[in-house]
Amino acid sequence: MEKILEVKNISKIYQTPKGEIKALENINFKLKAGEFVSIIGPSGCGKSTLLSIISGLEEKTSGEIFIQGKKVEGISKEIGYMLQKDCLLEWRTIWSNVMLGLELKGIKSKESNEYVKKLLQKYNLYEFKDKYPQELSGGMRQRVALIRTLAIKPKILLLDEAFSALDYQTRIMVTNDIYNILRKENITALIVTHDISEAISMSDRVIVLTKRPGTIKDIHTIEFEEEERNPISCRESPKFSKYFNTLWKELGVDENK
Ligand code: ADP
Ligand code: MG
Repeated sequence: MEKILEVKNISKIYQTPKGEIKALENINFKLKAGEFVSIIGPSGCGKSTLLSIISGLEEKTSGEIFIQGKKVEGISKEIGYMLQKDCLLEWRTIWSNVMLGLELKGIKSKESNEYVKKLLQKYNLYEFKDKYPQELSGGMRQRVALIRTLAIKPKILLLDEAFSALDYQTRIMVTNDIYNILRKENITALIVTHDISEAISMSDRVIVLTKRPGTIKDIHTIEFEEEERNPISCRESPKFSKYFNTLWKELGVDENK
Protein backbone atom coordinates (compact mmCIF):
# COMPACT_ATOMS: atom_id res chain seq x y z
CA MET A 1 0.00 0.00 0.00
CA GLU A 2 1.12 3.51 -0.77
CA LYS A 3 2.51 5.55 2.13
CA ILE A 4 0.39 8.66 2.64
CA LEU A 5 1.64 10.25 5.85
CA GLU A 6 5.02 10.18 7.50
CA VAL A 7 5.66 11.67 10.92
CA LYS A 8 9.40 11.96 11.40
CA ASN A 9 11.23 12.77 14.63
CA ILE A 10 8.53 15.13 15.88
CA SER A 11 9.22 16.83 19.19
CA LYS A 12 7.34 19.65 20.83
CA ILE A 13 8.26 21.92 23.70
CA TYR A 14 5.71 24.54 24.80
CA GLN A 15 7.19 27.76 26.15
CA THR A 16 5.04 29.02 29.02
CA PRO A 17 5.50 31.80 31.57
CA LYS A 18 6.27 29.06 34.10
CA GLY A 19 8.92 27.46 31.93
CA GLU A 20 9.14 24.79 29.28
CA ILE A 21 6.67 21.93 28.93
CA LYS A 22 8.04 19.05 26.95
CA ALA A 23 4.95 17.56 25.31
CA LEU A 24 6.32 15.17 22.67
CA GLU A 25 9.65 13.52 22.06
CA ASN A 26 10.88 11.90 18.90
CA ILE A 27 7.62 10.62 17.43
CA ASN A 28 8.00 8.46 14.31
CA PHE A 29 5.37 6.56 12.37
CA LYS A 30 3.88 6.16 8.90
CA LEU A 31 0.34 5.69 7.65
CA LYS A 32 -0.51 3.73 4.55
CA ALA A 33 -3.26 5.01 2.28
CA GLY A 34 -6.63 3.85 3.54
CA GLU A 35 -5.30 2.74 6.92
CA PHE A 36 -7.06 3.53 10.21
CA VAL A 37 -4.68 4.11 13.09
CA SER A 38 -5.56 5.07 16.67
CA ILE A 39 -3.40 6.82 19.21
CA ILE A 40 -3.98 6.13 22.88
CA GLY A 41 -2.05 7.25 25.94
CA PRO A 42 -2.47 8.81 29.38
CA SER A 43 -4.21 12.15 29.58
CA GLY A 44 -1.80 15.04 28.98
CA CYS A 45 0.72 12.90 27.09
CA GLY A 46 0.55 15.02 23.96
CA LYS A 47 -2.08 13.31 21.77
CA SER A 48 -3.93 16.50 20.84
CA THR A 49 -0.63 18.30 20.38
CA LEU A 50 0.44 15.65 17.88
CA LEU A 51 -2.76 15.98 15.82
CA SER A 52 -2.51 19.79 15.88
CA ILE A 53 1.05 19.55 14.59
CA ILE A 54 0.05 17.16 11.79
CA SER A 55 -2.84 19.46 10.86
CA GLY A 56 -0.41 22.38 10.71
CA LEU A 57 -2.32 24.43 13.29
CA GLU A 58 0.41 24.03 15.92
CA GLU A 59 4.11 24.54 15.28
CA LYS A 60 6.52 21.70 15.94
CA THR A 61 9.78 22.26 17.78
CA SER A 62 11.63 19.80 15.58
CA GLY A 63 10.98 17.07 13.06
CA GLU A 64 9.15 16.82 9.77
CA ILE A 65 5.75 15.88 8.36
CA PHE A 66 5.45 14.37 4.88
CA ILE A 67 2.20 13.89 3.00
CA GLN A 68 2.45 11.68 -0.07
CA GLY A 69 6.20 12.06 0.08
CA LYS A 70 6.12 15.88 0.13
CA LYS A 71 7.30 17.80 3.15
CA VAL A 72 4.55 20.04 4.50
CA GLU A 73 4.90 23.28 6.40
CA GLY A 74 1.70 24.75 7.81
CA ILE A 75 -1.79 23.73 6.86
CA SER A 76 -2.27 21.04 4.24
CA LYS A 77 -5.36 20.83 2.08
CA GLU A 78 -5.16 17.04 2.20
CA ILE A 79 -6.07 17.03 5.88
CA GLY A 80 -9.48 17.24 7.57
CA TYR A 81 -9.89 17.64 11.31
CA MET A 82 -12.75 16.54 13.56
CA LEU A 83 -12.98 17.52 17.19
CA GLN A 84 -15.04 16.47 20.17
CA LYS A 85 -17.44 19.33 19.69
CA ASP A 86 -19.16 19.17 16.33
CA CYS A 87 -18.72 22.96 16.04
CA LEU A 88 -21.88 23.34 13.95
CA LEU A 89 -23.14 26.91 13.81
CA GLU A 90 -26.62 26.96 15.34
CA TRP A 91 -27.84 29.88 13.26
CA ARG A 92 -26.97 28.23 9.97
CA THR A 93 -28.98 25.48 8.31
CA ILE A 94 -27.46 22.03 7.80
CA TRP A 95 -26.80 22.94 4.17
CA SER A 96 -24.96 26.15 4.97
CA ASN A 97 -23.07 24.39 7.75
CA VAL A 98 -21.74 21.73 5.39
CA MET A 99 -20.82 24.42 2.86
CA LEU A 100 -18.83 26.35 5.46
CA GLY A 101 -15.45 24.73 4.86
CA LEU A 102 -15.69 25.34 1.12
CA GLU A 103 -16.82 28.90 1.75
CA LEU A 104 -13.89 29.61 4.06
CA LYS A 105 -11.46 28.19 1.54
CA GLY A 106 -13.08 30.22 -1.24
CA ILE A 107 -13.64 27.10 -3.34
CA LYS A 108 -17.42 27.07 -3.60
CA SER A 109 -18.43 26.11 -7.10
CA LYS A 110 -21.16 24.33 -9.02
CA GLU A 111 -19.14 21.11 -8.76
CA SER A 112 -18.60 21.42 -5.03
CA ASN A 113 -22.34 22.12 -4.60
CA GLU A 114 -23.13 18.94 -6.50
CA TYR A 115 -20.58 16.96 -4.52
CA VAL A 116 -22.00 18.09 -1.16
CA LYS A 117 -25.51 17.35 -2.34
CA LYS A 118 -24.44 13.83 -3.31
CA LEU A 119 -22.75 13.26 0.04
CA LEU A 120 -25.86 14.41 1.92
CA GLN A 121 -28.06 12.17 -0.20
CA LYS A 122 -25.75 9.18 0.13
CA TYR A 123 -25.67 9.47 3.89
CA ASN A 124 -29.37 10.22 4.42
CA LEU A 125 -29.10 13.85 5.43
CA TYR A 126 -30.36 15.60 2.34
CA GLU A 127 -33.93 15.80 3.60
CA PHE A 128 -32.63 17.66 6.64
CA LYS A 129 -30.70 20.24 4.67
CA ASP A 130 -32.98 23.14 5.61
CA LYS A 131 -33.14 22.24 9.29
CA TYR A 132 -31.00 23.77 12.02
CA PRO A 133 -28.44 21.81 14.10
CA GLN A 134 -30.56 21.86 17.29
CA GLU A 135 -33.29 19.93 15.45
CA LEU A 136 -30.91 16.96 14.95
CA SER A 137 -29.75 14.21 17.33
CA GLY A 138 -26.14 14.12 18.57
CA GLY A 139 -25.30 11.30 16.19
CA MET A 140 -26.74 13.09 13.17
CA ARG A 141 -24.94 16.30 14.09
CA GLN A 142 -21.66 14.38 14.14
CA ARG A 143 -22.48 12.99 10.69
CA VAL A 144 -23.14 16.53 9.45
CA ALA A 145 -19.79 17.63 10.89
CA LEU A 146 -18.14 14.72 9.08
CA ILE A 147 -19.74 15.64 5.76
CA ARG A 148 -18.66 19.27 6.20
CA THR A 149 -15.10 17.93 6.56
CA LEU A 150 -15.43 15.52 3.61
CA ALA A 151 -16.74 18.35 1.42
CA ILE A 152 -13.21 19.70 1.07
CA LYS A 153 -12.08 16.23 -0.10
CA PRO A 154 -9.36 15.52 2.43
CA LYS A 155 -7.23 12.40 2.00
CA ILE A 156 -6.45 12.10 5.69
CA LEU A 157 -8.89 12.69 8.52
CA LEU A 158 -7.69 13.48 12.04
CA LEU A 159 -10.19 12.75 14.79
CA ASP A 160 -9.49 14.09 18.27
CA GLU A 161 -11.81 12.42 20.80
CA ALA A 162 -14.49 13.05 18.20
CA PHE A 163 -17.08 10.84 19.88
CA SER A 164 -16.37 11.39 23.55
CA ALA A 165 -19.18 13.91 24.08
CA LEU A 166 -21.80 11.32 23.08
CA ASP A 167 -23.45 8.91 25.48
CA TYR A 168 -22.29 5.27 25.32
CA GLN A 169 -25.06 3.82 23.09
CA THR A 170 -24.93 6.72 20.66
CA ARG A 171 -21.15 6.60 20.58
CA ILE A 172 -21.13 2.97 19.46
CA MET A 173 -23.66 3.68 16.70
CA VAL A 174 -21.88 6.82 15.57
CA THR A 175 -18.42 5.24 15.45
CA ASN A 176 -19.87 2.43 13.36
CA ASP A 177 -21.59 4.90 11.07
CA ILE A 178 -18.53 7.10 10.64
CA TYR A 179 -16.21 4.12 10.21
CA ASN A 180 -18.34 2.87 7.31
CA ILE A 181 -18.51 6.29 5.65
CA LEU A 182 -14.75 6.77 5.89
CA ARG A 183 -14.02 3.31 4.47
CA LYS A 184 -16.43 3.94 1.59
CA GLU A 185 -14.85 7.29 0.80
CA ASN A 186 -11.31 5.79 0.99
CA ILE A 187 -10.15 8.14 3.69
CA THR A 188 -7.07 7.46 5.81
CA ALA A 189 -7.86 8.08 9.47
CA LEU A 190 -5.75 8.98 12.48
CA ILE A 191 -7.89 8.70 15.59
CA VAL A 192 -7.06 10.00 19.05
CA THR A 193 -9.15 8.46 21.80
CA HIS A 194 -8.88 7.61 25.48
CA ASP A 195 -11.28 4.71 24.92
CA ILE A 196 -9.35 1.46 24.39
CA SER A 197 -12.41 -0.34 22.96
CA GLU A 198 -12.99 2.43 20.45
CA ALA A 199 -9.34 2.27 19.39
CA ILE A 200 -9.44 -1.50 18.84
CA SER A 201 -12.82 -1.50 17.13
CA MET A 202 -11.90 1.17 14.59
CA SER A 203 -8.27 0.51 13.81
CA ASP A 204 -5.80 -1.48 11.78
CA ARG A 205 -3.09 -0.42 14.21
CA VAL A 206 -3.00 1.18 17.66
CA ILE A 207 -0.12 3.42 18.72
CA VAL A 208 0.44 3.60 22.48
CA LEU A 209 2.16 6.68 23.84
CA THR A 210 3.97 6.96 27.17
CA LYS A 211 3.09 9.65 29.65
CA ARG A 212 4.44 13.13 29.01
CA PRO A 213 6.66 13.79 27.20
CA GLY A 214 4.84 11.45 24.86
CA THR A 215 7.04 8.94 23.10
CA ILE A 216 5.93 5.86 21.20
CA LYS A 217 5.81 2.94 23.58
CA ASP A 218 4.42 0.36 21.22
CA ILE A 219 2.49 -0.09 17.99
CA HIS A 220 -0.01 -2.96 17.85
CA THR A 221 -1.48 -4.46 14.70
CA ILE A 222 -5.18 -5.24 15.08
CA GLU A 223 -6.55 -8.03 12.96
CA PHE A 224 -10.01 -9.54 12.82
CA GLU A 225 -11.60 -12.05 10.50
CA GLU A 226 -13.12 -10.38 7.48
CA GLU A 227 -16.72 -10.98 8.62
CA GLU A 228 -15.98 -9.48 12.05
CA ARG A 229 -14.45 -6.34 10.64
CA ASN A 230 -16.75 -3.56 11.68
CA PRO A 231 -16.70 -1.63 14.95
CA ILE A 232 -19.78 -3.35 16.37
CA SER A 233 -19.30 -6.97 15.35
CA CYS A 234 -15.58 -7.12 16.20
CA ARG A 235 -16.50 -6.56 19.85
CA GLU A 236 -17.89 -10.10 19.89
CA SER A 237 -14.61 -11.63 18.79
CA PRO A 238 -12.38 -13.42 21.34
CA LYS A 239 -9.51 -11.47 19.81
CA PHE A 240 -11.15 -8.27 20.97
CA SER A 241 -10.75 -9.06 24.67
CA LYS A 242 -7.21 -10.26 24.06
CA TYR A 243 -6.29 -6.91 22.48
CA PHE A 244 -8.17 -5.08 25.20
CA ASN A 245 -6.22 -6.79 27.99
CA THR A 246 -2.88 -6.14 26.34
CA LEU A 247 -3.60 -2.44 25.84
CA TRP A 248 -5.20 -2.05 29.25
CA LYS A 249 -2.08 -3.46 30.94
CA GLU A 250 0.22 -1.35 28.87
CA LEU A 251 -1.65 1.85 29.74
CA GLY A 252 -2.20 0.91 33.36
CA VAL A 253 1.47 0.32 34.01
CA ASP A 254 2.18 3.76 32.68
CA GLU A 255 -0.54 5.54 34.67
CA ASN A 256 0.74 4.07 37.96
CA LYS A 257 4.38 4.90 37.48
P1 ADP B 1 -3.57 15.02 25.55
O1 ADP B 1 -4.36 15.40 24.35
O2 ADP B 1 -2.80 13.75 25.39
O3 ADP B 1 -4.39 14.98 26.79
P2 ADP B 1 -2.25 17.58 25.10
O4 ADP B 1 -1.59 17.45 23.79
O5 ADP B 1 -3.49 18.37 25.16
O6 ADP B 1 -2.44 16.14 25.77
O7 ADP B 1 -1.20 18.25 26.10
C1 ADP B 1 0.11 17.74 26.34
C2 ADP B 1 0.81 18.62 27.37
O8 ADP B 1 1.09 19.90 26.82
C3 ADP B 1 -0.03 18.87 28.62
O9 ADP B 1 0.81 18.89 29.73
C4 ADP B 1 -0.64 20.23 28.37
O10 ADP B 1 -0.88 20.90 29.58
C5 ADP B 1 0.46 20.92 27.56
N1 ADP B 1 -0.11 21.90 26.62
C6 ADP B 1 -1.03 21.67 25.66
N2 ADP B 1 -1.28 22.78 24.94
C7 ADP B 1 -0.50 23.75 25.48
C8 ADP B 1 -0.29 25.14 25.18
N3 ADP B 1 -0.93 25.74 24.17
N4 ADP B 1 0.60 25.82 25.94
C9 ADP B 1 1.27 25.21 26.93
N5 ADP B 1 1.13 23.91 27.25
C10 ADP B 1 0.26 23.18 26.55
MG1 MG C 1 -6.41 15.83 24.06
